[in-house]
Amino acid sequence: MSVAQSLQSLRDSLPKSARMPVVFLGHGSPMNAIEDTEYARGWTALGAALPRPQAILVVSAHWMTRGTTLVDVSAMPRTIHDFYGFPQELYQQRYPAPGAPDLAAEVTTLLASHHAEGDDTWGLDHGAWCVLKFLYPDADVPVFQISLDMTKDLDWHLETGRLLSDLRDRGVLILGSGNIVHNLRTMRMGAGAFDWAEAFDSGFSSKLADRDLAGLADRQGMGSLLSMAHPTVDHYLPALTIAGASDARDQLTFMNEGIDLGSVSMRSFVFH
Ligand code: ZN
Repeated sequence: MSVAQSLQSLRDSLPKSARMPVVFLGHGSPMNAIEDTEYARGWTALGAALPRPQAILVVSAHWMTRGTTLVDVSAMPRTIHDFYGFPQELYQQRYPAPGAPDLAAEVTTLLASHHAEGDDTWGLDHGAWCVLKFLYPDADVPVFQISLDMTKDLDWHLETGRLLSDLRDRGVLILGSGNIVHNLRTMRMGAGAFDWAEAFDSGFSSKLADRDLAGLADRQGMGSLLSMAHPTVDHYLPALTIAGASDARDQLTFMNEGIDLGSVSMRSFVFH
């Protein structure tokens, strides 16, 4: 199926809706899923404020592939506990939302240029369910993930968002989950934010507010601040995809601003 046919078929299968916001959430520690934190309270409030989507497409920092963009086409995505050494309560968490196999199959066509393929082995990793359980606690909105192709550079992930952005007019909530600053090597309990962490976080925010999306993907321009903020870019890429799915008509709202453990920015944003 061509991309044009695929879009037509999406239009037929999902009724036209008011344009959905796009959302990026900083997820931080998995403990946020079971603790009463200011961040979790922010996610709950956001869920109550968002229009109810027909489906949710999640780009999580924790699903990394090489050479393909995988799209979860399973009917009932499993809950993945992809972390080690946490309390038992965290491993007992389940997020039993259904998948959206037909829509996911259409998305593989939409992302044909990104070597997309259907996959039914992944499910929902903690980047997805740790925040979804607050946004939609009843787990009654169909949800599916797409992966990050780690062989591709930053602008590729902005482009992923552009390719997906028409889904916003079909009731699909595109949700990115990562962190705008994410350096686990320098993280310290009780530490204040490092200067470079604050500098990257505020530089990112200014570029986003100015719609300087190219600047968000400009490695040279960001220089060593990028490698300090992101020794590996997996937690950065979902923010780029969400920025790519926004356009000049959108208003930008930041939430959950704050830097945890010295080097994990919880800053989140919504284009609406
Ligand atoms: Zn993470």
